[in-house]
Amino acid sequence: MITYVTTGPTCYDWQPVLGCDRISPGCDHCVDMADAANLKAAGHELFQHDGHPVTSGPGFGMTLHTHLLTLPLTYEEPTNFFLGVGMDLFHARIPFPYLKGIFEVIAACPRHTFHFCTRRSLRMARLAPKLPWPDNLWTGVSVENADYLNRLDHLRQVPAAIRWLAAEPLIGPLDGLNLDGIDTVSVLGEFGEGHRPIEQAWVRDIRDACIARRVPFYLKGWGGPVNNPIALLDGRLWRQLPRHPARPGRLLPDTLGRELWTGEPAPTATQKAG
Ligand code: SF4
Repeated sequence: MITYVTTGPTCYDWQPVLGCDRISPGCDHCVDMADAANLKAAGHELFQHDGHPVTSGPGFGMTLHTHLLTLPLTYEEPTNFFLGVGMDLFHARIPFPYLKGIFEVIAACPRHTFHFCTRRSLRMARLAPKLPWPDNLWTGVSVENADYLNRLDHLRQVPAAIRWLAAEPLIGPLDGLNLDGIDTVSVLGEFGEGHRPIEQAWVRDIRDACIARRVPFYLKGWGGPVNNPIALLDGRLWRQLPRHPARPGRLLPDTLGRELWTGEPAPTATQKAG
């Protein structure tokens, strides 16, 4: 699943669900699955349910952690929560009433900002009419190569305040990328054991598509054995974030607790080439 490279002081993982199953090639080296096996071996109470040996693994069986469902309600200060480490919010075995409960907690906490990404975009699109889509929620899909660009079509069907393309881990070019209706794009290379190399040309093509459409672009790292979040492309960092369309004048906090999209003009193709 999408894994933030670092978790800053203003970003918390909220995990009312834990565990998952592989669904596409981007899952082949799921770092959360590997972490779950280690956490099970260490005796962690949240990682004692094994998943299917073919699609999941030790300690990674999909499990509802109902005691964590209302956790954000207990945070009084505005906080960023990420729903995506060790889980996929639209996993087929998450019962709809429980899923709806998660969305209702999000809607009940307008002081917080929530982010999630899913590879189960078809289920998301089908259930979208039955769920609240509050404006404090970033809704994302993970796309690892061009074979899965249809997840963006599903995302466009969702009445989300912020629609986010997470090209993570990027393991192939996104030829044919259509950014209609997409508010922000992030890219991360695969990292950890068995990582597949990313190519700069793939990232440059995505960055250029973002520049052409004035869509904020965030490069989170090139991946490798260990990801380095200080990642340069054409000599500069790319850490743009969107303004929130439903809250004029308010800048969303960076999920990493660091830089903000300032709205300065994106460089032209000529400028970036220089
Ligand atoms: S969807 Fe995400 S959490 Fe689930 S197996 Fe794939 S990479 Fe891991």
